[in-house]
Amino acid sequence: MNYRISQRAASLAPSLTLAIDSKAKQMKAEGLDVVGFGAGEPDFDTPQHIKDAAAKALAEGFTKYTPAAGIPELRQAIADKHKRENGLTYKPSQIIVSCGGKHSCYNVFMATCQEGDEVIIPAPYWLSYPEMVKLAGAKPVIVETTDATEFKITPQQLRDALTPRTRIFLLNSPSNPTGSVYTPDEIKTLGDICLEKGVLIMSDEIYEHLLYDGAVHKSVASFSQRHYEHTILVHGFAKAWSMTGWRLGWTAAPEPIAKAMDAIQSHSTSNPTSFAQKGGVAALTGPQDHLPGWLAEYNRRRTYAHQKLNSIPGLSCVNAKGAFYLFPNISKTGLKSTEFCARLLEAEKVAAVPGIAFGADDYIRLSYATSMANLQKGCERIERFCRNLR
Ligand SMILES: *Cc1c(COP(=O)(O)O)cnc(C)c1O
Repeated sequence: MNYRISQRAASLAPSLTLAIDSKAKQMKAEGLDVVGFGAGEPDFDTPQHIKDAAAKALAEGFTKYTPAAGIPELRQAIADKHKRENGLTYKPSQIIVSCGGKHSCYNVFMATCQEGDEVIIPAPYWLSYPEMVKLAGAKPVIVETTDATEFKITPQQLRDALTPRTRIFLLNSPSNPTGSVYTPDEIKTLGDICLEKGVLIMSDEIYEHLLYDGAVHKSVASFSQRHYEHTILVHGFAKAWSMTGWRLGWTAAPEPIAKAMDAIQSHSTSNPTSFAQKGGVAALTGPQDHLPGWLAEYNRRRTYAHQKLNSIPGLSCVNAKGAFYLFPNISKTGLKSTEFCARLLEAEKVAAVPGIAFGADDYIRLSYATSMANLQKGCERIERFCRNLR
């Protein structure tokens, strides 16, 4: 038998993080005391009222197919959220609920991109974006940024990357993996350039609510009607409501794009899990009083880790203003990120993600979605590791 793999699948980059991740898991299974900084998900539990709503729906037999783009109640609750919090007016028909924010991103590219199109992705980027763009047949155009600009793409860099083939500019603020947050002015300027060139903006706003140091989030869609018309907004329940395993995300988009996504979804996944959607309704319409406590705890960890990392010889770290990651610069250690992380795991049993996975080989990603005790233990081990390199 010829098990020829499709070009589409064969073109995907193997996950660089996988080797270290599976090594870390194996070490843990052997009973070793591994400190994991790899987590891309909150360490808090889903708030109880959200679980209750899903459990009730399940008990009541809400277990059948729903419309592919989500139940009307949830699409309305999402539209209401954008009205209330972002000043954006969407009809429920412009909201597509998908099986996680990742699935939303994928369907956006599938609905809008084709052979010959280019998608501008600032690096460091969330590692799935370029692979999704390739799956949609388009070409990822990577624009590198560094800690010198807090990992933000400059207007000139965006202009230089634009070509007549540019279809989408991808904006992710607050950012995974850097935690950087664009100011409203910076977002407007980048948005203006896209408007000028007729380029769509895909704005991944899943970390909207996780902000520190007085940082504010403003959606690029909210600056004017024209900005709104150029924006595809991606969001989800995973981060601010700690619902990663529920697989529930959404897109708010101009009507023709929403319709195309609905069609794609109706022929691929169909609806996101019925009773999970009821949990989503509860998440958006119920109390949000879990958030201040989570934010205070994230902030306490962020402040500690940022200060500690900067005191370690060979490391420097700009402070994150959002999400739950720090992205320290390791270039002064003389190691590239894969070797740094492999040796760190070997020598000190600390698992971090090499920056090369996000297109930035002079950095590593540390998630502080872990207990303060773990964070302290891990940072002290990183310090010993770096001192021993000298
Ligand atoms: C976590 C995350 C998502 C969505 O995750 P899902 O679990 O698929 O909802 C989307 N974008 C970024 C940048 C993320 O970090």
